[in-house]
Amino acid sequence: MKVAFGHMGTLTPIMEMILEDLDHESITPNRPTRQTLALGAKYAPEFACIPFKIVLGTYLECLKRGADTLASGGGYGPCRAGLYGELHKRILKDLGYQFDFIFFWPPLKKPLHFYRQLDKLKGRYSWAYLWRTIKKAYSKLTVLDELEMMAQRIRPRELKNGSTSKAFDQAMAIMRRAKTGSEIASAGIETRGMLSQVPFDDSRQPLKVGIIGEIYVQLEPFANFYLEEQLGHMGVEVRRSIYLTSYTHHDVLSTKGDMGSRTLAMPYLAQKVGGHGQNSVGDIIRYAKMGYNGVVQLAPFSCIPEIVAKSLVPQLSKDYGIPVLTLFIDEQTGAAGVQTRLEAFVDLMEQRRSRNLMIGA
Ligand code: SF4
Repeated sequence: MKVAFGHMGTLTPIMEMILEDLDHESITPNRPTRQTLALGAKYAPEFACIPFKIVLGTYLECLKRGADTLASGGGYGPCRAGLYGELHKRILKDLGYQFDFIFFWPPLKKPLHFYRQLDKLKGRYSWAYLWRTIKKAYSKLTVLDELEMMAQRIRPRELKNGSTSKAFDQAMAIMRRAKTGSEIASAGIETRGMLSQVPFDDSRQPLKVGIIGEIYVQLEPFANFYLEEQLGHMGVEVRRSIYLTSYTHHDVLSTKGDMGSRTLAMPYLAQKVGGHGQNSVGDIIRYAKMGYNGVVQLAPFSCIPEIVAKSLVPQLSKDYGIPVLTLFIDEQTGAAGVQTRLEAFVDLMEQRRSRNLMIGA
């Protein structure tokens, strides 16, 4: 099979490796661009959120490159995530594309369906072989998460502007080429070493910002205007509320989600509202308790879970004394506008920190 999938941050090399291990041809998607988004937006319903449009555009690009199968995963309601696989399929079929669609529901929600889809993907290989492949993919994922966190810490302290991103991109290319267990282990050592050799000033005390919100716009840099890099270059250390390994534990291998943030959210929002809406509420509290200087909430325009979370932001900000910047993102959002808002937010956090230091002095 010639299999394509949506591009979502560091998940891309993992999917590519799994497909190749199962003897499929991976039609690995390129990082989305404005053209990808425009293509998706052209055929998507107007109400669809931006992850839907970017992924639809990506599918179209991959089908034109010869993909005959699309692989996708989907969330479960109550937001629209539960409908999106089927909707993607129908739109593409209506456009005349012929392809097979392998759609994974969360395994603990629909185990039989998940098993059947996995069986289709594994083809002639044994379940034991598939299990080893998944374990290997997880070990690679762990390294990729670690590299992202290292880059997030080093970037605001780097001595030469852009050196962390350059080292990170090189590290990602090395990790992408690592296919066997031993190659992944040695590439992990090499790439950690590469990042730790980036010259940086460890005595700097950068502002710290937590990034929260919907998963796709958190994990795909194109969708969030390369927010982590932008903030890093403004001298801000970031940490996301979602990494792929934590998502695997909380949302794939469990039906409960991240109970840490959900528990914190309970006094303000006692029930799940779909997506990561409830988590966003708890994550604001979590970052405030950890002494972060601010939080950026990333929300696709019209994303109901994040709209619900946003409605609680003023109260949370007041109760926990932490500024929160919400960025609603759709295809009309411009890079310059996002940058201006980020700069203003960084200024605000700087002023708050200086004032708090003066009060404490
Ligand atoms: S979480 Fe938000 S962006 Fe994601 S599918 Fe649901 S409504 Fe859309």
